[in-house]
Amino acid sequence: MECRVCASSDVVEIFAIPPIPLVGEFTSKPNIQADLFPITVLHCDNCKVLQIKESINSERLFQEYSFSSSTVAGLVRHFTDYATWIWERYKPAKVLEVGCNDGVLLSPLARHGVEVFGLDISENITQLAKSKGLNAQALEFGEKNLAKILAWTGEVDFVTASNTFPHNEDPNGFLEAVTKVLTSDGRLALEVMYAGSLQDTLQWDTIYHEHLHFHSLTSLQNLLNRHGFYLEYAEIVPMHAGSLRIIASKRVPNTTPEVNLILKQELDSGLNSRENWNEFATKCWNSIEVTKSRLTERQKFGEIWAYGAAGRATMWIKVAKLDFIKKVIDSSPLRAGHFMPGSNIPIVFPNELQRDQSVKTIFVTAWNYAEGIAAQHPEFEGVWTVPLPEYSESL
Ligand SMILES: [Zn+2]
Repeated sequence: MECRVCASSDVVEIFAIPPIPLVGEFTSKPNIQADLFPITVLHCDNCKVLQIKESINSERLFQEYSFSSSTVAGLVRHFTDYATWIWERYKPAKVLEVGCNDGVLLSPLARHGVEVFGLDISENITQLAKSKGLNAQALEFGEKNLAKILAWTGEVDFVTASNTFPHNEDPNGFLEAVTKVLTSDGRLALEVMYAGSLQDTLQWDTIYHEHLHFHSLTSLQNLLNRHGFYLEYAEIVPMHAGSLRIIASKRVPNTTPEVNLILKQELDSGLNSRENWNEFATKCWNSIEVTKSRLTERQKFGEIWAYGAAGRATMWIKVAKLDFIKKVIDSSPLRAGHFMPGSNIPIVFPNELQRDQSVKTIFVTAWNYAEGIAAQHPEFEGVWTVPLPEYSESL
């Protein structure tokens, strides 16, 4: 075994999830015969990154993508605020976003007068961005498409990637390609799920095939420095239950105090130690057992439905074996009307909750949005439950 980030062989397995379906493969008919893939979580003692050993062909994962950011109100707010933050702080002239999804960040950036370019692997999602009048292409970012990309964008002074950098099987190739499109004084902005939040709130449910590496600031700094980038700014933001936002550049920057503060916190808490990750694994398996047994008990009160069909839902249903869940509610038209991956559980729109009175418990798999979800359904008189950071009933 070798670390895909630093090529060290000093990697150790900390968590092994039995084979499960790919969390984005929703089907129009029940599909209990779906292909199954294991997930082996490794920790690298050399560069400190957490990663998944198995990688799945990116075309299979992303070409027809079922996650459109603008259907999640919390994400729309996040990216509107992020656009303002970028504009006020850095005043970029030309921005390239890698993994632009449906244009959720590029739209507000364009409104600030920035020239924007968006790349995304997913054909269907890029189409959504184009339909908003944005300059977007369905193309994978990297060395092999670099000439095509440069002919289209020219050099840019700001490259950004939110929640897409860990999709890359080759993070080193990604950073080398960034170097070639960025002006010498340009900046790279990344938002990635934060390993510290993962550890604090036991988020094993977001460790699935699309997310190949999870970074602390320490591991990200190790990686960036190897490619000649320096950390300029870092912040923990609430997106996806805890993400790390960083700004890096090739010029030796005036590192802001936030960077050193987070690095020190990571050192003090032992975040990057193998011991902490082993303890994380033990606590996660306990959490899975508790949630499974409490929900199993709640079946006596009536039907249990889940809320939110995104990746976390498949993880809970498949790994905790919650096959007794009757329906999954989701407002995205890319998911509602389909079936959960590898199962016969239908996904329904939220208004189904008013029509069907048999549900007595809702298990909020999108637990990081639980309060907002419950507030949208004052008509529901049963019990709301969430699995993390710890199992709890009624919000
Ligand atoms: Zn490594």
